[in-house]
Amino acid sequence: MERIVLPRKFDYNESIRIRDKLKKRYPFLVCHSIGKSVCSRDITAYSLGNYKNTVLFAGAFHAQEWLTGLVLLRFLERICESLKARKELSGVDICASLMTKGITIIPCINPDGVEIVLNGAESAGKLSGFVKDISRNDLSKWNANCNGVDINHNFNAGWETLREMETRAGILGPSVRQYGGFAPHSEPETQALVRFCERNHIDHAFAIHSQGEEIYWSYGDNTPENSLTMANIFSVCSGYELVENDSLASHGGFKDWFIEYFMRSAFTIEIGKGENPLPVSQLDEIYERIEEMLVVGAII
Ligand SMILES: [Zn+2]
Repeated sequence: MERIVLPRKFDYNESIRIRDKLKKRYPFLVCHSIGKSVCSRDITAYSLGNYKNTVLFAGAFHAQEWLTGLVLLRFLERICESLKARKELSGVDICASLMTKGITIIPCINPDGVEIVLNGAESAGKLSGFVKDISRNDLSKWNANCNGVDINHNFNAGWETLREMETRAGILGPSVRQYGGFAPHSEPETQALVRFCERNHIDHAFAIHSQGEEIYWSYGDNTPENSLTMANIFSVCSGYELVENDSLASHGGFKDWFIEYFMRSAFTIEIGKGENPLPVSQLDEIYERIEEMLVVGAII
C-alpha cells in the first residue's frame, strides 16, 4: 500500500493532507485538536487504545526541528498498519498492548513556528512584521512560536532560574530562540499541552527534538527511580546516548515540567545527527534507527 507519510517538507498544508488521509484509511484512529496556536492553527493529537492510561509522544516544539513531526507521524502510520493487518510491530504485539495502554501522538506543538521557517514570515499573519523585526529578516535560526517565545523554555519548571540564565546570555525579550516568555505557561501552545496532560492520565511522556542522538531522562528530585532503567532500555534499542541537562537546556522544558509536576517519567529524545533543520531525505534512516525504541516506549 502506498505510504501516506512521505519525506516532504512538513508545513501546515502537508500536515492536513496527512491527517485527512490517515483518518480515511484508518477510521479507528481518533484525531482531535488539543488547542490552537497564536495564529489559530490547530495543534492536532492522534490517539489509539485506552485513553485512561496513555503514553504521550510530542514533537516539533522547536520550529527548525519539524522533521520530528514527520518521524512521529511515520510511527503513527506504522502502528495503524499493524493494527489493521493484526501484525506485530518491531516484534511487539501492539494490538494486545493497546487493550491496556493507549498511545497519543501530537506531532507538532509549534505549527506557527514551523510555518514561519518553511513558508516565511508572512505566514505569521498580523504578526509578520514583528517576526521580521525580531529575526532581522533571517529565519535560519527561528525556533520560537510567532510571539518570539521558545515553547520549550515556557514550562513552569525552574522557569525563574532559566529566566536569569537567559538574561545573562543577553536574551531579554522576544527572540528567534531561547526566550521563555513573560511568565510560565504564557503561550497558547504551552497551555494546550499542559491542559491535555492535566485532563488525561499520561503514564509517561516523550518530547522529540533534534539533533544529537541523545536521551535526556532526569529533572531534579522528582525524577522517578525507574526512569534511568527505562532510559537504558531505550539506549540499547536505538544506540542513542544517555545525557543529563546542562546550560540553557536545564529548565523550563516540557519534560522538566512533566517530571516535576506529575512525578512520573518523561524523556527528551534528540533524534538524528547534523545541523538543524535536518534534511527531510533522512526521514527513513532516522525513523528506522528509532522505531524499536518508540515501540518499546509505548508499551513499557
Ligand atoms: Zn529542540
